[in-house]
Amino acid sequence: MSYDYGEIVPYLLTWFDYNARILAWRDNPKPYYVWVSEIMLQQTRVEAVKGYFDRFIKALPNIQALAEVEEDKLLKLWEGLGYYNRARNLQKAAQIVVRDYAGELPGDYHMLLSLPGIGEYTAGAIASIAFQKPVPAIDGNVLRVMKRIAGSTDDITRLSVKKELWTDIERIIPKDRPGDFNQSLMELGAMVCVPNGKPDCEHCPVVHICKAFHEDTIALIPNKPAKKPRKKEERTILVLEYQDKYAIRRRKQNGLLAGLWEFPGVEMKLNLKELKRELTSQGILAAEIQPIGDAKHIFSHVEWHMTGYHIKMKELPNNSPYLDSVIWAGRNEILSDYSIPNAYETFRKNILFNEENLNIK
Ligand code: SF4
Repeated sequence: MSYDYGEIVPYLLTWFDYNARILAWRDNPKPYYVWVSEIMLQQTRVEAVKGYFDRFIKALPNIQALAEVEEDKLLKLWEGLGYYNRARNLQKAAQIVVRDYAGELPGDYHMLLSLPGIGEYTAGAIASIAFQKPVPAIDGNVLRVMKRIAGSTDDITRLSVKKELWTDIERIIPKDRPGDFNQSLMELGAMVCVPNGKPDCEHCPVVHICKAFHEDTIALIPNKPAKKPRKKEERTILVLEYQDKYAIRRRKQNGLLAGLWEFPGVEMKLNLKELKRELTSQGILAAEIQPIGDAKHIFSHVEWHMTGYHIKMKELPNNSPYLDSVIWAGRNEILSDYSIPNAYETFRKNILFNEENLNIK
């Protein structure tokens, strides 16, 4: 149901003036900075994004540089953030901006929406924050906050519910501070009316208006149907070492973690005895085998349950399917040139690196 949110505007703006976190892209809301930060912030928390954002902007200070950078370097800069298609789309969009808009990001909501990787929320965020256009920017945080304020148990996964909220926000968004208004909602959702755990209603600037608070329905909002359980997959990860180099291979160009580098492995969990048998059958002579722990990585629809082994090899076999498509790289090369996704972090860390080399905290 449509709701009149008009009353919240001055409270949110004043709260934002005093409580907004200082962020590089907020301090200097150049369209390119806002765009990069919004793409990084999809699925990633602000605190985690800060370091990546600074490093990315230092390496690729403008849209032209992003359009021209080699894909491997781009993916290396994105390493640790996950969801690598975001980086690929960012580059595709930068190439279009250079070709069709003389290297300047357009400020129009619909033009932004036509670029790869920019959906309704991101187009609204860029248009309002960087170009002061009065357009809503509705993500999960904003949906939660607004539905709680309205005391509405509507199913927020329904498109009609989001569309209705869009119209409600469009009606009240202040023409002189649209970017601040959208950010105040996002900030309230991130800092006060939080997604997991108890919201800090005591410090909420709209507590006196919030229906969920007064009707004691906070726990019921936002209302969304339970997700299907994720598929579980088991794997054994092999960190194969030969003469101080490690075997890595590129993943397929489509599907999960497309085109990124990984350690070879087997799509089942093997204990030490099974692994030894497997290696022998693959013609691999191991000088030493060390278990390097278990790890779990959660993607949106699937979970990997992995166990890892560090295998020092005596010699390279002439013919082994495991080694068909691998390259051998030293630890420094892997650090600087090859993007190995977070899913393999436990094994990568365990064997290869002193993390201080990465300059990412
Ligand atoms: S009063 Fe509580 S539930 Fe309502 S918007 Fe504020 S933090 Fe969220």
